[in-house]
Amino acid sequence: MDRPPADQEREAALVAALGAIRARIAAACEAVGRDPREVTLIAVTKTCPVSDLAALARLGVRDVGESKDQEARAKIAELGEFDAPEAESGIDTAEFRWHLVGRLQTNKARSVAGYASAVHSVDRPKLATALADAADSREHPLDVFAQVSLDSDPQRGGVAVEALPELADAIAARPELRLRGVMTVPPMDTDADAAFARLAELSAQLNAAHPGAEAISAGMSADFETAIAHGATHVRIGTALLGRRAQVFS
Ligand SMILES: *Cc1c(COP(=O)(O)O)cnc(C)c1O
Repeated sequence: MDRPPADQEREAALVAALGAIRARIAAACEAVGRDPREVTLIAVTKTCPVSDLAALARLGVRDVGESKDQEARAKIAELGEFDAPEAESGIDTAEFRWHLVGRLQTNKARSVAGYASAVHSVDRPKLATALADAADSREHPLDVFAQVSLDSDPQRGGVAVEALPELADAIAARPELRLRGVMTVPPMDTDADAAFARLAELSAQLNAAHPGAEAISAGMSADFETAIAHGATHVRIGTALLGRRAQVFS
């Protein structure tokens, strides 16, 4: 099926941006002797149209990130309508792995457990419990990252450093969840190098108590190379891949 010229132009821009990001990830890994295959690129598609998701799918991107349950659900519904024509070109948008990266209310747990592969923003035992209760009918456990706040500012989300072990225990206690590791969004105007070094320490402590929970979700458009230098396994990239978002409050 022929796509309109505007779509082809957009797809060409995405090809270029994706290639550049993959090259930067590879270089950042090489600089510290890591294998780029250890790093999962999550394309953060919040505010982007589903045509971008379809284009990303054609380019082989499978891991996509959204901040809000409502927006993710709307996109999944809309993508359902993409499936028929796209299937002819070999794209199965149902193969997306959805990563929830934004703050989550417990009343969204059931919805999220219905489609998400991973929730990166679990920051309180109550949310872990709600997700586990909601995940009981899933085929696979829900992957969960414990989001930690490095400055204990409640606004951005994340558990205080002191309370991280208790949160990790609450997640690990539930077989419906799989504790993957830690996640953070560094404080604004902070030294990213120091922040990600601290996160690496916290990751090592968590991993000692919970073997297998070695993943580190860290690094966004502005700082993903620094995060990779400090062991990030999941980088969450929006703007550098998809361009600037319309200003929204997330
Ligand atoms: C929006 C968002 C990102 C992506 O940010 P960019 O700076 O656009 O790459 C990553 N993580 C979280 C939690 C986000 O909300």
